[in-house]
Amino acid sequence: MNRIRMANPIVEMDGDEMTRIIWQQIKEELLEPFVELNTEYYDLGLKNRDATDDRVTIEAAEATKRVGVAVKCATITPNAQRVEEYGLKKMWKSPNGTIRAALDGTVFRAPILVKNIQPVVRTWKKPITIARHAYGDVYKASEIRVPGAGKAEIVFTAQDGTQQTKLVHEFDGAGLLQGMHNTDASIRAFAHSCFRYAVETEQSLWFSTKDTISKTYDQTFKMIFQEIYESDYKADFEAKGIEYFYTLIDDAVARVIRSEGGFIWALKNYDGDVMSDMVSTAFGSLAMMTSVLVSPSGVFEYEAAHGTVTRHYYRHLKGEETSTNPMATIFAWTGALKKRGELDGNAELCAFAESVEKACIAAIEEGYVTGDLAALIGPEAKKLTTMGFLKNVRARLEA
Ligand code: NAP
Ligand code: MG
Repeated sequence: MNRIRMANPIVEMDGDEMTRIIWQQIKEELLEPFVELNTEYYDLGLKNRDATDDRVTIEAAEATKRVGVAVKCATITPNAQRVEEYGLKKMWKSPNGTIRAALDGTVFRAPILVKNIQPVVRTWKKPITIARHAYGDVYKASEIRVPGAGKAEIVFTAQDGTQQTKLVHEFDGAGLLQGMHNTDASIRAFAHSCFRYAVETEQSLWFSTKDTISKTYDQTFKMIFQEIYESDYKADFEAKGIEYFYTLIDDAVARVIRSEGGFIWALKNYDGDVMSDMVSTAFGSLAMMTSVLVSPSGVFEYEAAHGTVTRHYYRHLKGEETSTNPMATIFAWTGALKKRGELDGNAELCAFAESVEKACIAAIEEGYVTGDLAALIGPEAKKLTTMGFLKNVRARLEA
């Protein structure tokens, strides 16, 4: 059989534990039989990050900027227990954090919908994509436990020494203080990523903050988005028949619940953290979420939304066959291959990636599923191991 050729590579970032095993199985069962995979391989497994003093993560991020498209396996973010388990030189930073900082991107997460798993919210018919700003606010805040009476102020000292001071509160007893920030550069990058992604996927964009209460901070987010929309994207939005819609966060929450879905919801860092867990749970499962990091310069990195599924890996090490859901990892691959195909004008590659996705969805809709989904579908489910599921999809692709 003639395998599909790729003119340009994608960056392949391998990872850890159960997802590392599934990574290999997906390549062998679903991709390599049909495509001459052209990848620049980086091993982001924890052992190799430690051996290279984490240089491999930075090299992979640099390669992504050059090549334009990457696919990443889930990786361990080490904590004290992992330092001991792997005998690490130090507690290396989160690879996702390192890559995000290098690409200056926004993460878009959308559920994979199947007919036999109903969203908890009855009105939802189409996916809701969450776009979370991944910089600043409460995640980079300085906090003080106020011990007793006193005066709290915020002070800004410019490079020329001039100062602005504002009273926060005159405490007459113990309390709390928090100082947080964001930058125009990061908000602009966030806005560009959101508008581009909306045009790219032909979906309307909603954005919400609390600008009525936060008259400088949140108001600035709102104004930057509006200004960038008017100057750079309005014409594209109108041409595609999609809209940009700003509303207060509490109004947005009510509208999202009553909606049919089918749009992108852009959120500030904390709002995005909370709402993405709510939306993904209401749609079914983290193993059925796609996740892509889009940089304002138009670089794409595809990954799964879940972690390395450690508990299943320990069972795998004991020799048990696991029933871990490979969907999110498969869709990371198909997302990256489709994007490569689009950029290179390789219609065959795009069509192949589409047919893998369709075959996966058909398998699930006929009840051939891994354990996590079997529990959601109920008695009609025919529970398979991970390999059993991949072989079921493979047979459909060959047919
Ligand atoms: P996790 O790997 O997402 O797994 C948590 C639990 O969710 C699993 O034990 C499993 O539940 C269920 N689950 C997740 N993905 C599944 C799948 N594909 N199929 C079936 N069930 C699935 O999160 P974690 O255990 O908190 O984290 C493990 C490691 O992953 C950590 O070292 C963390 O640093 C890393 N992590 C990496 C990323 C990333 O690279 N993007 C993201 C998050 C976490 P049951 O055990 O009940 O079956
Ligand atoms: Mg969270």
